[in-house]
Amino acid sequence: MSQKLFSELGLSEVLLKAIDRLGYENAAPIQGEAIPLILAGNDVIGQSQTGSGKTAAFAIPAVEKTDPQIRKTQVLILCPTRELAVQVAEEVYKLSAFKRGVHSVPIYGGQSYDRQIRALKQGAQIVIGTPGRILDHLSRGTLTLANVHMVVLDESDEMLDMGFRDDIEEVLGSIPKERQFICFSATMSAPIMELIRKHSIHPRTVKIEHKILTVPTVEQAYYEIRGRSKTEALTRLIDLYDPKLGIIFCNTKRTVDELADEMIARGYSADRIHGGMSQAQREKVMSRFRSSAIEFLVATDVAARGIDIENVEVVFNYDLPWDEEDYVHRIGRTGRAGRSGRAMSLVEGREIYKLQSIERYTRVKIPRQQVPSLEKVEEKRTNLFFERIRTALQHGKFQSETPIVDRLLAQGFSATDIACALVHELRKEDTPRRDTVVKRREDRGDSRPTQPRTRDRRSKRTRS
Ligand code: ADP
Ligand code: MG
Repeated sequence: MSQKLFSELGLSEVLLKAIDRLGYENAAPIQGEAIPLILAGNDVIGQSQTGSGKTAAFAIPAVEKTDPQIRKTQVLILCPTRELAVQVAEEVYKLSAFKRGVHSVPIYGGQSYDRQIRALKQGAQIVIGTPGRILDHLSRGTLTLANVHMVVLDESDEMLDMGFRDDIEEVLGSIPKERQFICFSATMSAPIMELIRKHSIHPRTVKIEHKILTVPTVEQAYYEIRGRSKTEALTRLIDLYDPKLGIIFCNTKRTVDELADEMIARGYSADRIHGGMSQAQREKVMSRFRSSAIEFLVATDVAARGIDIENVEVVFNYDLPWDEEDYVHRIGRTGRAGRSGRAMSLVEGREIYKLQSIERYTRVKIPRQQVPSLEKVEEKRTNLFFERIRTALQHGKFQSETPIVDRLLAQGFSATDIACALVHELRKEDTPRRDTVVKRREDRGDSRPTQPRTRDRRSKRTRS
Protein backbone atom coordinates (compact mmCIF):
# COMPACT_ATOMS: atom_id res chain seq x y z
CA MET A 1 0.00 0.00 0.00
CA SER A 2 1.34 3.40 -0.91
CA GLN A 3 1.41 5.43 2.27
CA LYS A 4 2.58 8.99 2.28
CA LEU A 5 3.59 11.21 5.11
CA PHE A 6 1.55 14.37 5.53
CA SER A 7 4.82 16.28 5.44
CA GLU A 8 5.32 15.15 1.83
CA LEU A 9 2.11 16.74 0.63
CA GLY A 10 3.15 20.38 0.54
CA LEU A 11 1.18 21.54 3.57
CA SER A 12 1.98 24.49 5.80
CA GLU A 13 3.28 24.14 9.36
CA VAL A 14 -0.01 25.18 10.94
CA LEU A 15 -1.85 22.40 9.13
CA LEU A 16 0.81 19.80 9.91
CA LYS A 17 0.62 20.77 13.55
CA ALA A 18 -3.16 20.36 13.62
CA ILE A 19 -2.94 17.00 11.85
CA ASP A 20 -0.36 15.86 14.34
CA ARG A 21 -2.63 16.87 17.17
CA LEU A 22 -5.45 14.81 15.65
CA GLY A 23 -3.01 11.93 16.03
CA TYR A 24 -2.94 10.92 12.37
CA GLU A 25 0.41 9.37 11.57
CA ASN A 26 0.33 8.79 7.85
CA ALA A 27 -1.97 10.05 5.14
CA ALA A 28 -4.68 7.58 4.20
CA PRO A 29 -4.34 6.56 0.52
CA ILE A 30 -7.20 8.82 -0.60
CA GLN A 31 -5.61 11.72 1.31
CA GLY A 32 -2.15 11.12 -0.13
CA GLU A 33 -3.56 11.22 -3.66
CA ALA A 34 -6.23 13.89 -3.40
CA ILE A 35 -4.60 16.56 -1.22
CA PRO A 36 -1.79 17.57 -3.62
CA LEU A 37 -4.24 17.67 -6.54
CA ILE A 38 -6.66 19.91 -4.68
CA LEU A 39 -3.86 22.14 -3.42
CA ALA A 40 -2.72 22.55 -7.02
CA GLY A 41 -6.15 23.89 -7.92
CA ASN A 42 -7.64 20.98 -9.81
CA ASP A 43 -11.23 19.90 -9.80
CA VAL A 44 -11.06 16.53 -8.07
CA ILE A 45 -13.34 13.53 -7.97
CA GLY A 46 -12.49 11.17 -5.13
CA GLN A 47 -13.82 7.69 -4.68
CA SER A 48 -13.02 5.33 -1.85
CA GLN A 49 -14.92 3.23 0.60
CA THR A 50 -16.69 4.40 3.70
CA GLY A 51 -14.35 4.99 6.57
CA SER A 52 -11.31 5.55 4.37
CA GLY A 53 -10.64 9.13 5.44
CA LYS A 54 -12.38 11.18 2.76
CA THR A 55 -13.28 14.01 5.12
CA ALA A 56 -9.69 15.04 5.81
CA ALA A 57 -8.89 14.54 2.12
CA PHE A 58 -10.93 17.64 1.31
CA ALA A 59 -10.98 19.38 4.70
CA ILE A 60 -7.19 19.70 4.89
CA PRO A 61 -6.78 21.52 1.54
CA ALA A 62 -9.96 23.50 2.24
CA VAL A 63 -8.45 24.95 5.40
CA GLU A 64 -5.09 25.38 3.69
CA LYS A 65 -6.65 27.38 0.86
CA THR A 66 -8.70 29.63 3.08
CA ASP A 67 -7.50 33.20 3.38
CA PRO A 68 -7.93 34.33 7.01
CA GLN A 69 -7.76 37.99 5.96
CA ILE A 70 -10.94 37.78 3.91
CA ARG A 71 -13.94 37.46 6.18
CA LYS A 72 -16.33 36.06 3.61
CA THR A 73 -17.54 32.58 2.74
CA GLN A 74 -14.77 31.03 0.64
CA VAL A 75 -15.44 27.32 0.88
CA LEU A 76 -18.81 25.60 0.79
CA ILE A 77 -19.11 21.97 1.79
CA LEU A 78 -22.41 20.20 1.14
CA CYS A 79 -23.32 17.14 3.20
CA PRO A 80 -26.40 14.92 3.07
CA THR A 81 -27.39 15.00 6.74
CA ARG A 82 -27.16 17.12 9.81
CA GLU A 83 -25.03 14.49 11.57
CA LEU A 84 -22.51 14.43 8.75
CA ALA A 85 -22.43 18.21 8.54
CA VAL A 86 -21.64 18.34 12.25
CA GLN A 87 -18.95 15.70 11.92
CA VAL A 88 -17.29 17.43 8.99
CA ALA A 89 -17.52 20.76 10.82
CA GLU A 90 -15.76 19.23 13.82
CA GLU A 91 -12.95 17.97 11.63
CA VAL A 92 -12.62 21.35 9.90
CA TYR A 93 -12.59 23.05 13.28
CA LYS A 94 -9.80 20.82 14.57
CA LEU A 95 -7.79 21.23 11.40
CA SER A 96 -7.95 25.01 11.60
CA ALA A 97 -6.92 25.07 15.27
CA PHE A 98 -3.57 26.69 14.54
CA LYS A 99 -4.58 28.77 11.54
CA ARG A 100 -5.65 31.99 13.18
CA GLY A 101 -8.57 33.88 11.76
CA VAL A 102 -10.13 30.89 10.00
CA HIS A 103 -13.69 30.25 11.10
CA SER A 104 -16.18 27.61 10.09
CA VAL A 105 -19.85 26.99 10.77
CA PRO A 106 -22.21 24.08 10.27
CA ILE A 107 -25.55 25.06 8.79
CA TYR A 108 -28.32 22.52 9.08
CA GLY A 109 -32.05 22.26 9.54
CA GLY A 110 -33.42 21.97 13.04
CA GLN A 111 -31.00 24.43 14.58
CA SER A 112 -32.07 28.02 15.22
CA TYR A 113 -31.43 30.47 12.40
CA ASP A 114 -30.16 33.09 14.81
CA ARG A 115 -27.00 31.27 15.78
CA GLN A 116 -26.23 30.43 12.17
CA ILE A 117 -26.88 33.98 11.01
CA ARG A 118 -24.58 35.34 13.70
CA ALA A 119 -21.73 33.06 12.63
CA LEU A 120 -22.28 33.95 8.98
CA LYS A 121 -22.32 37.66 9.77
CA GLN A 122 -19.07 37.31 11.67
CA GLY A 123 -17.53 36.08 8.44
CA ALA A 124 -17.14 32.30 8.69
CA GLN A 125 -14.98 31.41 5.69
CA ILE A 126 -15.87 27.72 5.61
CA VAL A 127 -19.56 26.83 5.57
CA ILE A 128 -20.60 23.22 5.98
CA GLY A 129 -24.25 22.51 5.42
CA THR A 130 -27.13 20.48 4.16
CA PRO A 131 -28.48 21.65 0.78
CA GLY A 132 -31.96 22.56 2.06
CA ARG A 133 -30.82 24.86 4.83
CA ILE A 134 -28.16 26.44 2.61
CA LEU A 135 -30.90 27.31 0.12
CA ASP A 136 -32.98 28.81 2.92
CA HIS A 137 -30.15 31.12 3.89
CA LEU A 138 -29.55 32.03 0.27
CA SER A 139 -33.16 33.04 -0.22
CA ARG A 140 -33.18 35.02 3.05
CA GLY A 141 -30.05 36.79 1.92
CA THR A 142 -28.17 35.72 5.05
CA LEU A 143 -25.59 33.78 3.04
CA THR A 144 -23.77 34.94 -0.08
CA LEU A 145 -21.64 32.66 -2.17
CA ALA A 146 -20.08 35.32 -4.39
CA ASN A 147 -16.61 34.76 -2.88
CA VAL A 148 -16.67 30.98 -2.87
CA HIS A 149 -13.63 29.54 -4.63
CA MET A 150 -14.12 25.92 -3.62
CA VAL A 151 -17.25 23.81 -3.41
CA VAL A 152 -17.22 20.28 -2.01
CA LEU A 153 -19.93 17.69 -2.40
CA ASP A 154 -19.33 15.18 0.37
CA GLU A 155 -21.00 11.75 0.33
CA SER A 156 -22.42 12.60 -3.09
CA ASP A 157 -24.02 9.21 -3.55
CA GLU A 158 -25.99 9.64 -0.37
CA MET A 159 -27.00 13.19 -1.24
CA LEU A 160 -28.41 12.08 -4.57
CA ASP A 161 -30.11 9.05 -3.02
CA MET A 162 -31.83 11.41 -0.64
CA GLY A 163 -33.23 13.42 -3.53
CA PHE A 164 -31.07 16.52 -3.13
CA ARG A 165 -30.28 16.71 -6.83
CA ASP A 166 -32.30 19.85 -7.63
CA ASP A 167 -31.20 21.59 -4.46
CA ILE A 168 -27.56 20.89 -5.27
CA GLU A 169 -28.00 22.25 -8.79
CA GLU A 170 -29.58 25.38 -7.40
CA VAL A 171 -26.80 25.94 -4.87
CA LEU A 172 -24.14 25.39 -7.52
CA GLY A 173 -25.94 27.93 -9.70
CA SER A 174 -25.33 30.65 -7.09
CA ILE A 175 -21.57 30.10 -6.98
CA PRO A 176 -19.18 31.89 -9.36
CA LYS A 177 -18.06 29.76 -12.31
CA GLU A 178 -14.34 30.06 -11.61
CA ARG A 179 -14.37 27.87 -8.52
CA GLN A 180 -12.83 24.55 -7.72
CA PHE A 181 -15.27 21.66 -7.82
CA ILE A 182 -14.59 18.75 -5.49
CA CYS A 183 -16.77 15.68 -5.25
CA PHE A 184 -16.32 12.75 -2.90
CA SER A 185 -18.29 9.55 -2.87
CA ALA A 186 -18.04 5.92 -1.84
CA THR A 187 -19.67 4.85 -5.10
CA MET A 188 -20.07 6.41 -8.54
CA SER A 189 -23.42 6.25 -10.28
CA ALA A 190 -24.67 7.68 -13.57
CA PRO A 191 -26.38 10.69 -11.91
CA ILE A 192 -23.16 11.59 -10.06
CA MET A 193 -21.16 11.33 -13.27
CA GLU A 194 -23.64 13.64 -14.94
CA LEU A 195 -23.39 16.18 -12.13
CA ILE A 196 -19.60 16.06 -12.43
CA ARG A 197 -19.71 16.46 -16.20
CA LYS A 198 -21.93 19.46 -15.90
CA HIS A 199 -20.12 21.32 -13.14
CA SER A 200 -16.44 20.48 -13.32
CA ILE A 201 -13.61 21.39 -15.65
CA HIS A 202 -11.01 18.74 -16.52
CA PRO A 203 -11.53 16.91 -13.25
CA ARG A 204 -8.80 14.64 -11.93
CA THR A 205 -10.09 11.37 -10.59
CA VAL A 206 -8.67 9.63 -7.57
CA LYS A 207 -9.93 6.15 -7.01
CA ILE A 208 -8.57 3.93 -4.29
CA GLU A 209 -8.98 0.29 -5.01
CA HIS A 210 -7.91 -2.59 -2.94
CA LYS A 211 -5.55 -5.38 -3.60
CA ILE A 212 -7.08 -8.70 -2.81
CA LEU A 213 -5.22 -10.26 0.06
CA THR A 214 -5.46 -13.66 1.63
CA VAL A 215 -7.31 -13.42 4.86
CA PRO A 216 -5.61 -15.44 7.57
CA THR A 217 -7.58 -18.15 9.29
CA VAL A 218 -8.14 -16.56 12.62
CA GLU A 219 -11.20 -16.77 14.81
CA GLN A 220 -12.84 -13.38 14.35
CA ALA A 221 -15.59 -11.69 16.32
CA TYR A 222 -16.89 -8.22 16.95
CA TYR A 223 -18.44 -6.67 20.03
CA GLU A 224 -20.88 -3.84 19.76
CA ILE A 225 -20.13 -1.24 22.41
CA ARG A 226 -23.20 0.53 23.71
CA GLY A 227 -23.13 2.93 26.60
CA ARG A 228 -20.17 1.27 28.22
CA SER A 229 -16.60 2.36 27.63
CA LYS A 230 -14.45 0.54 25.10
CA THR A 231 -11.74 0.12 27.70
CA GLU A 232 -14.15 -1.60 30.09
CA ALA A 233 -15.19 -4.00 27.32
CA LEU A 234 -11.58 -4.61 26.37
CA THR A 235 -10.46 -5.43 29.90
CA ARG A 236 -13.39 -7.78 30.45
CA LEU A 237 -12.48 -9.65 27.28
CA ILE A 238 -8.89 -9.86 28.44
CA ASP A 239 -9.99 -11.10 31.86
CA LEU A 240 -12.29 -13.69 30.31
CA TYR A 241 -9.93 -15.12 27.70
CA ASP A 242 -6.79 -14.49 29.68
CA PRO A 243 -4.40 -14.27 26.72
CA LYS A 244 -0.72 -14.19 27.50
CA LEU A 245 0.37 -12.01 24.62
CA GLY A 246 -1.79 -9.60 22.65
CA ILE A 247 -1.65 -6.55 20.41
CA ILE A 248 -4.27 -3.83 20.71
CA PHE A 249 -4.64 -1.58 17.68
CA CYS A 250 -5.84 2.00 17.80
CA ASN A 251 -6.10 4.47 14.95
CA THR A 252 -4.23 7.40 16.44
CA LYS A 253 -1.13 8.05 18.52
CA ARG A 254 -3.31 9.87 20.98
CA THR A 255 -5.65 6.92 21.57
CA VAL A 256 -2.63 4.62 21.89
CA ASP A 257 -1.18 6.83 24.62
CA GLU A 258 -4.47 7.22 26.45
CA LEU A 259 -5.33 3.54 26.33
CA ALA A 260 -1.84 2.37 27.34
CA ASP A 261 -1.96 4.70 30.35
CA GLU A 262 -5.42 3.53 31.27
CA MET A 263 -4.47 -0.13 31.05
CA ILE A 264 -1.39 0.36 33.18
CA ALA A 265 -3.50 2.23 35.70
CA ARG A 266 -5.87 -0.72 35.78
CA GLY A 267 -2.96 -2.97 36.54
CA TYR A 268 -2.34 -4.65 33.19
CA SER A 269 1.12 -5.27 31.96
CA ALA A 270 1.08 -3.08 28.87
CA ASP A 271 3.15 -0.67 26.85
CA ARG A 272 2.80 1.30 23.66
CA ILE A 273 4.35 1.79 20.28
CA HIS A 274 3.59 4.54 17.77
CA GLY A 275 5.24 6.78 15.24
CA GLY A 276 5.67 9.64 17.68
CA MET A 277 8.32 7.67 19.57
CA SER A 278 12.01 7.54 18.77
CA GLN A 279 13.42 4.47 17.09
CA ALA A 280 15.33 3.61 20.25
CA GLN A 281 12.20 3.81 22.41
CA ARG A 282 10.29 1.65 19.97
CA GLU A 283 12.98 -1.00 19.88
CA LYS A 284 13.09 -1.13 23.64
CA VAL A 285 9.34 -1.72 23.84
CA MET A 286 9.47 -4.32 21.08
CA SER A 287 12.16 -6.32 22.78
CA ARG A 288 10.24 -6.30 26.06
CA PHE A 289 7.15 -7.51 24.23
CA ARG A 290 9.14 -10.13 22.36
CA SER A 291 10.49 -11.52 25.62
CA SER A 292 6.98 -11.44 27.17
CA ALA A 293 8.06 -8.87 29.76
CA ILE A 294 4.88 -7.05 28.82
CA GLU A 295 1.68 -8.86 27.89
CA PHE A 296 -0.08 -6.21 25.83
CA LEU A 297 1.25 -3.95 23.17
CA VAL A 298 -0.96 -0.98 22.30
CA ALA A 299 -0.04 0.10 18.78
CA THR A 300 -0.85 2.08 15.67
CA ASP A 301 -0.73 0.36 12.29
CA VAL A 302 2.39 2.12 11.15
CA ALA A 303 4.40 1.23 14.21
CA ALA A 304 3.23 -2.36 14.18
CA ARG A 305 3.88 -2.98 10.50
CA GLY A 306 6.21 -5.88 9.96
CA ILE A 307 6.12 -7.00 13.55
CA ASP A 308 6.64 -10.72 13.51
CA ILE A 309 6.29 -12.14 16.94
CA GLU A 310 5.39 -15.70 17.70
CA ASN A 311 2.69 -16.62 20.15
CA VAL A 312 0.58 -13.52 19.80
CA GLU A 313 -2.69 -15.08 20.90
CA VAL A 314 -5.03 -12.23 20.25
CA VAL A 315 -5.35 -9.05 18.25
CA PHE A 316 -7.83 -6.46 19.47
CA ASN A 317 -9.13 -3.72 17.26
CA TYR A 318 -9.84 -1.04 19.81
CA ASP A 319 -10.70 1.06 16.77
CA LEU A 320 -11.51 -0.49 13.43
CA PRO A 321 -8.97 0.61 10.83
CA TRP A 322 -10.10 2.97 8.09
CA ASP A 323 -8.49 0.74 5.54
CA GLU A 324 -9.72 -2.81 5.03
CA GLU A 325 -6.23 -3.89 4.07
CA ASP A 326 -5.00 -2.75 7.46
CA TYR A 327 -7.58 -5.00 9.09
CA VAL A 328 -6.11 -7.96 7.26
CA HIS A 329 -2.57 -6.90 8.21
CA ARG A 330 -3.57 -6.46 11.82
CA ILE A 331 -5.26 -9.80 12.32
CA GLY A 332 -2.38 -11.48 10.52
CA ARG A 333 -0.25 -10.69 13.59
CA THR A 334 -1.88 -13.60 15.36
CA GLY A 335 -2.37 -17.23 14.39
CA ARG A 336 1.11 -17.40 12.92
CA ALA A 337 2.75 -20.61 11.83
CA GLY A 338 -0.44 -22.62 12.05
CA ARG A 339 -1.17 -21.68 15.66
CA SER A 340 -4.65 -20.67 16.59
CA GLY A 341 -5.39 -17.01 17.09
CA ARG A 342 -8.25 -14.66 17.78
CA ALA A 343 -9.17 -11.27 16.45
CA MET A 344 -11.68 -9.24 18.44
CA SER A 345 -12.99 -5.92 17.27
CA LEU A 346 -14.77 -3.31 19.34
CA VAL A 347 -17.39 -1.54 17.28
CA GLU A 348 -19.05 1.67 18.30
CA GLY A 349 -21.74 3.63 16.50
CA ARG A 350 -20.81 4.49 12.95
CA GLU A 351 -17.97 1.99 12.95
CA ILE A 352 -20.52 -0.64 12.02
CA TYR A 353 -20.21 0.62 8.43
CA LYS A 354 -16.49 0.01 8.54
CA LEU A 355 -17.14 -3.48 9.80
CA GLN A 356 -19.49 -4.12 6.91
CA SER A 357 -16.98 -2.93 4.36
CA ILE A 358 -14.32 -5.11 5.98
CA GLU A 359 -16.71 -8.05 5.62
CA ARG A 360 -17.32 -7.22 1.99
CA TYR A 361 -13.64 -6.83 1.30
CA THR A 362 -12.49 -9.98 3.08
CA ARG A 363 -15.59 -11.92 2.04
CA VAL A 364 -15.82 -13.26 5.54
CA LYS A 365 -18.75 -12.83 7.86
CA ILE A 366 -17.54 -11.65 11.24
CA PRO A 367 -19.87 -12.95 13.95
CA ARG A 368 -21.19 -10.64 16.62
CA GLN A 369 -20.68 -11.55 20.24
CA GLN A 370 -21.74 -10.14 23.56
CA VAL A 371 -19.35 -8.25 25.76
CA PRO A 372 -19.08 -10.60 28.75
CA SER A 373 -20.83 -9.48 31.92
CA LEU A 374 -18.82 -8.95 35.09
CA GLU A 375 -20.54 -12.02 36.52
CA LYS A 376 -19.35 -14.09 33.61
CA VAL A 377 -15.77 -12.87 34.01
CA GLU A 378 -15.96 -13.67 37.71
CA GLU A 379 -17.45 -17.09 37.02
CA LYS A 380 -14.65 -17.89 34.61
CA ARG A 381 -12.13 -16.95 37.25
CA THR A 382 -13.90 -19.11 39.82
CA ASN A 383 -13.97 -22.09 37.48
CA LEU A 384 -10.28 -21.78 36.77
CA PHE A 385 -9.59 -21.62 40.45
CA PHE A 386 -11.83 -24.59 41.17
CA GLU A 387 -9.97 -26.64 38.57
CA ARG A 388 -6.63 -25.65 40.05
CA ILE A 389 -7.62 -26.88 43.52
CA ARG A 390 -9.22 -30.04 42.18
CA THR A 391 -6.08 -30.90 40.21
CA ALA A 392 -3.95 -30.29 43.28
CA LEU A 393 -6.18 -32.62 45.32
CA GLN A 394 -5.95 -35.30 42.65
CA HIS A 395 -2.17 -35.08 42.51
CA GLY A 396 -2.05 -35.41 46.27
CA LYS A 397 1.39 -33.85 46.66
CA PHE A 398 0.61 -31.64 49.61
CA GLN A 399 1.41 -33.84 52.59
CA SER A 400 4.30 -31.60 53.59
CA GLU A 401 1.75 -28.93 54.57
CA THR A 402 0.11 -31.20 57.18
CA PRO A 403 1.84 -29.65 60.23
CA ILE A 404 0.42 -26.17 59.68
CA VAL A 405 -3.10 -27.54 59.18
CA ASP A 406 -2.73 -29.72 62.29
CA ARG A 407 -1.74 -26.65 64.29
CA LEU A 408 -4.85 -24.82 63.15
CA LEU A 409 -7.05 -27.83 63.93
CA ALA A 410 -5.45 -28.01 67.37
CA GLN A 411 -6.56 -24.44 68.00
CA GLY A 412 -10.13 -25.52 67.43
CA PHE A 413 -10.82 -24.24 63.89
CA SER A 414 -12.98 -26.52 61.77
CA ALA A 415 -11.55 -28.13 58.64
CA THR A 416 -14.10 -26.26 56.50
CA ASP A 417 -13.21 -22.90 57.99
CA ILE A 418 -9.52 -23.53 57.50
CA ALA A 419 -10.08 -24.52 53.88
CA CYS A 420 -12.26 -21.45 53.25
CA ALA A 421 -9.70 -19.14 54.77
CA LEU A 422 -6.99 -20.64 52.58
CA VAL A 423 -9.14 -20.28 49.48
CA HIS A 424 -9.84 -16.68 50.43
CA GLU A 425 -6.16 -15.87 50.85
CA LEU A 426 -5.26 -17.63 47.61
CA ARG A 427 -7.95 -15.92 45.57
CA LYS A 428 -6.66 -12.55 46.57
CA GLU A 429 -3.54 -13.58 44.76
CA ASP A 430 -5.50 -15.01 41.90
CA THR A 431 -5.94 -11.52 40.46
CA PRO A 432 -2.40 -11.11 39.23
CA ARG A 433 -3.14 -8.01 37.19
CA ARG A 434 -4.64 -6.10 40.08
CA ASP A 435 -1.59 -7.13 42.07
CA THR A 436 0.62 -5.14 39.80
CA VAL A 437 -1.27 -2.03 40.83
CA VAL A 438 -0.66 -2.81 44.47
CA LYS A 439 3.02 -3.42 43.92
CA ARG A 440 3.50 -0.29 41.93
CA ARG A 441 1.84 1.81 44.62
CA GLU A 442 3.96 0.20 47.31
CA ASP A 443 7.05 1.05 45.32
CA ARG A 444 6.03 4.64 45.49
CA GLY A 445 5.62 4.39 49.23
CA ASP A 446 1.89 4.91 48.83
CA SER A 447 0.25 3.13 51.71
CA ARG A 448 -3.37 3.48 50.71
CA PRO A 449 -5.29 0.19 51.02
CA THR A 450 -5.44 -0.59 47.34
CA GLN A 451 -6.59 -4.14 47.08
CA PRO A 452 -10.25 -3.88 48.05
CA ARG A 453 -10.55 -0.49 46.40
CA THR A 454 -9.56 -1.73 42.99
CA ARG A 455 -12.32 -4.27 43.09
CA ASP A 456 -14.88 -1.81 44.40
CA ARG A 457 -14.01 0.67 41.74
CA ARG A 458 -14.38 -1.92 39.03
CA SER A 459 -17.83 -3.03 40.04
CA LYS A 460 -19.09 0.49 40.65
CA ARG A 461 -17.88 1.77 37.34
CA THR A 462 -19.74 -0.89 35.42
CA ARG A 463 -23.00 -0.51 37.25
CA SER A 464 -23.29 3.19 36.66
P1 ADP B 1 -15.09 8.49 5.02
O1 ADP B 1 -15.62 9.87 4.82
O2 ADP B 1 -14.21 8.02 3.91
O3 ADP B 1 -16.18 7.49 5.30
P2 ADP B 1 -13.93 9.57 7.44
O4 ADP B 1 -13.34 10.77 6.84
O5 ADP B 1 -15.20 9.71 8.20
O6 ADP B 1 -14.15 8.46 6.31
O7 ADP B 1 -12.81 8.87 8.33
C1 ADP B 1 -13.01 7.67 9.02
C2 ADP B 1 -12.18 7.64 10.30
O8 ADP B 1 -10.79 7.58 10.01
C3 ADP B 1 -12.37 8.85 11.17
O9 ADP B 1 -12.54 8.40 12.49
C4 ADP B 1 -11.10 9.63 11.04
O10 ADP B 1 -10.80 10.34 12.22
C5 ADP B 1 -10.08 8.55 10.77
N1 ADP B 1 -8.95 9.01 9.94
C6 ADP B 1 -9.01 9.76 8.83
N2 ADP B 1 -7.78 9.98 8.33
C7 ADP B 1 -6.92 9.35 9.14
C8 ADP B 1 -5.48 9.20 9.16
N3 ADP B 1 -4.70 9.75 8.22
N4 ADP B 1 -4.94 8.47 10.16
C9 ADP B 1 -5.72 7.91 11.11
N5 ADP B 1 -7.06 8.01 11.16
C10 ADP B 1 -7.67 8.71 10.19
MG1 MG C 1 -17.30 10.83 4.71
